[in-house]
Amino acid sequence: MNSQLRQLPQVETLLHSPAIAKVIDASSRQEVADVLRAALAQLRADIQAGRGAGLPDFTSAAFAQGLLAEILNARAPNLRAVVNATGIIIHTNLGRARLAPEALAAMQDVGAHPSNLELNLTTGKRGSRYDHAEALICELTGADAALIVNNCAAAVVLGLMGTAMGRKVIASRGELIEIGGSFRLPDVIAQSGAVLKEVGATNKTRLGDYADAIDDDVAVLLKSHTSNFRIIGFTAAPAREDLAKLAKDRDLILIEDLGSGVLIDLSPFGLSDEPVVADILKAGVDLVMFSGDKLLGGPQAGIIAGRADIIAQLRAHPLLRALRIDKLSLAALEATLRLYRAPNDPLTRIPVLRMLSEPAPAVQARADLLAGLLRGQGGAEVSVVPSAAYVGGGAMPQQDLASFSVSVMVPDLSADDLATALRVATPPIIGRIHQGRMQLDMRTVADDELPLIAAAFNAITAR
Ligand SMILES: *Cc1c(COP(=O)(O)O)cnc(C)c1O
Repeated sequence: MNSQLRQLPQVETLLHSPAIAKVIDASSRQEVADVLRAALAQLRADIQAGRGAGLPDFTSAAFAQGLLAEILNARAPNLRAVVNATGIIIHTNLGRARLAPEALAAMQDVGAHPSNLELNLTTGKRGSRYDHAEALICELTGADAALIVNNCAAAVVLGLMGTAMGRKVIASRGELIEIGGSFRLPDVIAQSGAVLKEVGATNKTRLGDYADAIDDDVAVLLKSHTSNFRIIGFTAAPAREDLAKLAKDRDLILIEDLGSGVLIDLSPFGLSDEPVVADILKAGVDLVMFSGDKLLGGPQAGIIAGRADIIAQLRAHPLLRALRIDKLSLAALEATLRLYRAPNDPLTRIPVLRMLSEPAPAVQARADLLAGLLRGQGGAEVSVVPSAAYVGGGAMPQQDLASFSVSVMVPDLSADDLATALRVATPPIIGRIHQGRMQLDMRTVADDELPLIAAAFNAITAR
């Protein structure tokens, strides 16, 4: 062991070897020194742990090649674009909604230049970032007022802090959700300084349960969208209208944590489970909170829409600044909202809505195209198969969308190994394994990504 340790060269010495000098020419002395230091430290640790598998030839071209590959890899951003071939349109692990070109252009413009973020151009006085998209949200939802914060979780926290701190919030036991990332409604209510009063049972909560629980300490009735699960069978929940009437009669605030938040009716696409924001407000809900980057199809943001007097209260909340939306997201959100207005058709202009409304034959045509590009590469067995796509993002968990996938098998490569190879390809391609075969769902893939998939696949099968 000690003899191997003694054979480890100094970084300084290696930097003078001719093969490594070439790597320095192709990169920089600093980067080469960094990867050499890391490589030598790893070798040293391996030897000390008895895992040493012999030393490489430090002067060889192969060793130098390996260094260069590592340097180029380290230069690539950690956070990067991938191809989503999972069939889950709003994939939480893959960054949720992809943005429309108009939203990207707005971010580019506002990011590259100073903007009127907090300047009223008409009066020359200080303006508010919250004014830029408020009227649009009101127009699209029928709300009297709206406030935009960092995400929907922040919207819920702010909404509860601003209305129920030190008081009670009544919520149904069937709606005490955990969304993921450990956002649990009971904990969020507690952290907002409110006291949760649970009513009803897991499967059934009636209007009377809410009514019976109301006392002088109650400030809010909270309804939440059971985004990522459904209770089916013997169930009951009061109609929104009835809850709204109860809240009004007893001078309470009815808040709904909607989560996904759709602005248009998606029932023509078989997606009838998601209530439209405008209908929720029409039913008498005082405040509704929803995400910018779920079904709305925009950037990460949390929107609070509803009664003007309560929104004014939240706008004055001392913690609003800690939850505020940044200018790039705001620019993207405004641009996305504008795509909902005439003469635009949001179903074609907003990628999330386009993907979920695309007719199955069009998805099949894309699958046929990709199959044609992959067929025959490295003896791959390629077929187009029907599959099920999902909205994702905690919306409509059991409603699937008819889709088509390209199913691939490569000789001498297990489905798991193929999935891994595709995941570490450039760009990374994320599919799913179904019945032992790799499947690439074409509902979530854009036309211009097909050549990227083909090239990555080619690099894998050519190895
Ligand atoms: C997704 C979701 C949230 C959280 O939204 P973020 O934008 O991720 O913060 C809150 N409530 C419900 C019901 C949700 O589905």
